[in-house]
Amino acid sequence: MTHHVASQKRVWNFSPGPAVLPLEALEEAQRDLLALPGVGASVLEISHRSKIFESIIQAAEDNIRKLLKIPNNYFVLFLQGGARLQFGMIPLNFLRQTGKTAEFIVTGSWGAMALKEAQTQGPVRAIWDGKAEGYRRVPRPEEYRPSPDAAYVHFTSNETIEGVQFRVEPEVGDLPLVCDASSDFLSRPIPIERYALLYAGAQKNAGPAGVTIVIIRDDLVRRCPEDLPSMLNYRKHAEAKSLLNTPPCFAVYMVKLVTDWLLRQFGDLQKVHEHNQRKAAILYEVIDHSNGYYRGHAHPEHRSLMNVTFRLPNESLEKKFVSEADKAGFMHLEGHRSVGGCRASIYNAMPIEGVQALKEFMIEFQKNNPA
Ligand SMILES: *Cc1c(COP(=O)(O)O)cnc(C)c1O
Repeated sequence: MTHHVASQKRVWNFSPGPAVLPLEALEEAQRDLLALPGVGASVLEISHRSKIFESIIQAAEDNIRKLLKIPNNYFVLFLQGGARLQFGMIPLNFLRQTGKTAEFIVTGSWGAMALKEAQTQGPVRAIWDGKAEGYRRVPRPEEYRPSPDAAYVHFTSNETIEGVQFRVEPEVGDLPLVCDASSDFLSRPIPIERYALLYAGAQKNAGPAGVTIVIIRDDLVRRCPEDLPSMLNYRKHAEAKSLLNTPPCFAVYMVKLVTDWLLRQFGDLQKVHEHNQRKAAILYEVIDHSNGYYRGHAHPEHRSLMNVTFRLPNESLEKKFVSEADKAGFMHLEGHRSVGGCRASIYNAMPIEGVQALKEFMIEFQKNNPA
C-alpha cells in the first residue's frame, strides 16, 4: 500500500481574499510541484525566460482572452503591486499633467480608496458617492453626469467590503471607462469593448496573491508618458509581454490552472455566471426569509453575487455566529473590520455544496439563538 501524507480536512472557506481556489487546480499544482511534466524541475525553479514559462504565461493569457472574449486591440498584462498599485498607476499614466480631472463613481470602500490614491497625481471628483447612504447600492444613470472632458471615469464593479455590485456598466459615453474588477473578475461575461482599462488582483477569483491582471486598450498604451520609471509604465509592460522583470511566476502559473479549470468545468462565463447566481440565491433566500433575523446590507437589486454581507440582530449574536460557524467548519464569515457584521464570500471556486451547508447552518443558528 502506498502511504500518502495525511492531508488536513478542508473546511468551507468563505474568505474574501486570498480566497478559496478550485481543489482540482490545487491538486494539479501539488502533483506537478516537484517537476513539471516533461521539464524535470519545479515551476518555482525555472527561468522566466524559458520556453516552458513563456508557454505558461501565454496559456494564462489565452485562457483569459477566451473567457472574456477580449478583442485584439487590448493587451492582457500580468503585473505586481496588487489592485492597490493600480489605484496609483492609472492616474500616474492617464491623469498627471493632462490638465483633466479623473472622475469616480464611489459605491464602497475600495472605490473611495482608489479616489484618494488618484488624488496624489491630479484633480479628482466623485460624480456619485454612496457613502452617506452607507454604500448600499449603485447609482442610476440619471444620478451622475461625467464631464465631457474627464480624463477617465473609474468605478468598482463589485465592492468586496459592502457587497454591492453593478449589474451593468455605468453610462459614460465616449469617455475612457476604468474598472476595478478585483472581486468579480471572471465571474460573469462582460462587454470588454466598453472598457478602456480593467484590472483585478488575482487573489479573489482568479488565483493566489501576487499577480494583478490588467486588460488595457491599445490607444491608452500608446498614450503612456515617457518620463516614468519603466515598472510604472503600461507601455513598457505591454512591449515586454509582462516580462519586463521577473514576474510572479508561480502566481501566473496558478492563474493558468484556475482558468484551465473554468474552461474545463464550465466552458464559458455565462455558465459560470449562472452557477454564481444559483449560489448567491441560496444565501439571499435564507436572509430574505428569516423574518428580519438576518438583514442584508445592500439593496436587493444591487447586492453582490460574490460577497454576501449581512447583519444579525446584535453584535454579540454576530460574534457568536462567526465563532460557532468557525467551529462547525465555515471559515472567515466575519465582516470587514471597517464595517463589522458578517460576510460570506462565494467566489467561483466555492462549491454549491458549501453554500448549501452554510444555509443549513444559518437556519439552525437562528432557531437556537432567538433575538
Ligand atoms: C481586495 C481588493 C482590492 C485590494 O487588492 P490588493 O491586491 O490587496 O491591492 C482592491 N479592490 C477591490 C475591489 C478588492 O476586492
